[in-house]
Amino acid sequence: MAIETIRHAVDYMLGQTNTQQLKRYEKELQAVNALADEVKSLSDDGLRERADAVLHRLRDGTSRQDARVEVYALVREVAERTVAMRPFDVQIVGALALDDRRIAEMQTGEGKTLVATLPATLNAFVGKVHVVTVNDYLARRDREWMGPIYEFLGLNVGLLQDGMDPADRKTAYAADITYGTNNQFGFDYLRDNMVLTHDRKVQGPLDFAIVDEIDNILVDEARTPLIISGSAAEALDRYRKFASLSRRFREDIDFEIDEESRRLTLTDAGIHKAEQALSIENLFSPEQTETLHHIETALRALHLFHKEQHYIVKDGRVMIVDDFTGRLMPDRRYSDGLHQALEAKEGLRIQRETQTLAQITLQHYFQLYRGLCGMTGTAKTEEDEFKQIYALPVLVVPTNRTLRREALPDRIFRTQKAAFNAIADEVATLHEQGRPVLIGTNSIEKSERLAALLKARKLPHHVLNAKYHEQEAEIVADAGQHSAITVATNMAGRGTDIKLGDGVADLGGLHVIGGQRHESRRIDNQLLGRSGRQGDPGSSQFYLSMEDDLLRIFGGDRIAPLMDRLGMEEGEAIEHDLLTGAIRRAQKRVEGRNFEIRKRLLEYDLVLSKQREAVYALRDRFLLPPPGSEESLGTEAEADLEEYLHDLFEELAENLVGEHAAAGRPLDEWNLGGLAHELSTYGPISASLFEEAGIEELIALAGEHLKKALAAQRERLGVQFSLLARYIILTTIDEAWRTHLYNLDDLKGGIGWTAYGGGDPLVAFKRESFSMFQEMLGNAAEKIVRVVLNPRLTVSSGPAPKRSDENLRYVHPSATSPAPKQASKSKGGQRAVRIEKEPGRNDPCPCGSGLKYKKCCGRVT
Ligand code: ADP
Ligand code: MG
Repeated sequence: MAIETIRHAVDYMLGQTNTQQLKRYEKELQAVNALADEVKSLSDDGLRERADAVLHRLRDGTSRQDARVEVYALVREVAERTVAMRPFDVQIVGALALDDRRIAEMQTGEGKTLVATLPATLNAFVGKVHVVTVNDYLARRDREWMGPIYEFLGLNVGLLQDGMDPADRKTAYAADITYGTNNQFGFDYLRDNMVLTHDRKVQGPLDFAIVDEIDNILVDEARTPLIISGSAAEALDRYRKFASLSRRFREDIDFEIDEESRRLTLTDAGIHKAEQALSIENLFSPEQTETLHHIETALRALHLFHKEQHYIVKDGRVMIVDDFTGRLMPDRRYSDGLHQALEAKEGLRIQRETQTLAQITLQHYFQLYRGLCGMTGTAKTEEDEFKQIYALPVLVVPTNRTLRREALPDRIFRTQKAAFNAIADEVATLHEQGRPVLIGTNSIEKSERLAALLKARKLPHHVLNAKYHEQEAEIVADAGQHSAITVATNMAGRGTDIKLGDGVADLGGLHVIGGQRHESRRIDNQLLGRSGRQGDPGSSQFYLSMEDDLLRIFGGDRIAPLMDRLGMEEGEAIEHDLLTGAIRRAQKRVEGRNFEIRKRLLEYDLVLSKQREAVYALRDRFLLPPPGSEESLGTEAEADLEEYLHDLFEELAENLVGEHAAAGRPLDEWNLGGLAHELSTYGPISASLFEEAGIEELIALAGEHLKKALAAQRERLGVQFSLLARYIILTTIDEAWRTHLYNLDDLKGGIGWTAYGGGDPLVAFKRESFSMFQEMLGNAAEKIVRVVLNPRLTVSSGPAPKRSDENLRYVHPSATSPAPKQASKSKGGQRAVRIEKEPGRNDPCPCGSGLKYKKCCGRVT
């Protein structure tokens, strides 16, 4: 009876839409069912032929919607023949929702692994499909388990695993359907955007992703980006080296300064000096672009930026003084390595030892897919978030059999000690009856304390901390056996099927005990989902104490006096539906607040995300062919390069003219000689050419000059020119982008601290990071033009461009590293690749949220 009431209440709360949506799918489901007999009568080959025919129709333009009834009917039959599971009606409904790019909420044990095969097959007919799971073990299990379905139909299936080398990854992605973890997919994306030649990309198109346990990715992981970092030690060394080298260069001999434009150029003598000092052959060979940049930056730091005028040194740091207002700008850093060069010049510690090379949050990564959908047992509580932020509607799919899970009211104790003792007592009682118990905790520390209590009572048990996915999965699988006792943290053994042992159903099935209520109801629901699967009997109860954060912070002030009035002893508990209701309300409040925090974090990250996409799109345009290949770039690519360079020329011409002449200024203040001098870097030019010219004409003339220089370069370097130019563009952009990431980190950290005149820090961050980005692009553009047009640019005789992956580190709390050569075989598990020492509690959080570490990722829950 109770269950029916709940059903109605749920229907009521979910409003019409869920019911209506289900009705719509009901119709399609009937159509799938109607094909069952016909499909069943087909031979294996007959099935394959039918599938082939649909595939061709799809490729000829039939829409997925029009084809899916037939495809689902076929896959259903294939699943029965190959893996001996025939998708239930509710599974077909879930599968339809996935194909519609929704989140299908399906309880644990409803067979989501199988559900995914239907949209995976359908979508693999028209593109690449990625099936995303939470850990390597599940990826492998699901790939092996479901593989026969796809293979029967002639589809290839790939599998990504930790430690695979790029060649194997490429093969895995080349398959029609690829199984892997979210970290593997995300890191591969980042790495693909660090390569120089297109053959080294492994991932392929991001067409369609089916994300298992999607709430885990979009909600729980919201705070931590995937980061690839490298050691900055080498770079830091270089800043110091160049700071000291730069002191040996003399103005007007080794370099010239144009005061007006604050531009610094090495003379031939200076170039020669640098080449000698560094024992390099040619400063203008493409591999030396960074060196050239370093020398010039060091020189600019020394001669164009003056202490007490442009910056001051305070607390061991270089702080920028605003040009116009004279105010200090403590959070701003000069871009492009200039700040570091100033630190080196002043003999200060150069900030930071590791350098972020690339980063992305999983949320933004998954938003890159053309189609995204997901499955989980727990989505409804966060429905608004999924819809608002990710445009993913949630469909609650009914269970295959009626849910027979009984939720007992929460028991609330004064102290955690009392609550834990009561748990241990309860476990002893149930154990005596032979009933299996699963106790869920939210921290390793708590699970260990509980284990100690169980041990003291001589109760045999297993403790799982989500470290050893495979072994833990085996143990959790047995958690439903007669008298089993299992203590597990939230993530331990997730995705594993808990089947009841013989006779256990008669005892009432698996009993789940929660050692606390989590801030989020969703996490509690995940725990509940471990019992009562596929219509099994089961029950659950949460044990809380007044010492739990949730109660201390919310509603505790009401419950404590009540306990006093009732004269409750320490070991006694109150247990009432009203209290359970009050706790739910507290949870909702916290959920709301956390949603806001996540939303904000994502907004910060969105700024970065847009910039990243722009940079990646740019570098994609200019990726090189594989080294040593005869592959020519093609006329289209050549034209694209030409167009890009012309755009840069236009910009540079405008800037140069703007610096030496301005429409508002009297003509006799125009420095046409200076303009000609700067342009002479790219070939001989005389100032007399500019006489009588207006601003527009000057810009046009300067642009023409650059174009002429380009033509001369092409002439001189022949077919090699475009390769060189591309190489220079790529390396310059990459270097600039990395420095930008570095500076953004500082900006984020800084803005969190500063009140910014009471303004909204997010707005300040957007504004600042935007102008830093523009500045970065502008500087990079100028550098590209200077090197690409330099008369000394040559084809290097050295080996083909190569970039090593060896020193990269992959950072994410739940990451196992996909780095090819990483020795992270350590079964140390989830947190194995955390680098950087733990920040201080009051330090800015390394996730970049701008919060103090203790208030953010370092929060003790
Ligand atoms: P979920 O991921 O939803 O928790 P799983 O995919 O792990 O569920 O499947 C749970 C169990 O249900 C597995 O043992 C699986 O074999 C079984 N199962 C799923 N679908 C079917 C089906 N259509 N027929 C028979 N067994 C099924
Ligand atoms: Mg699962």
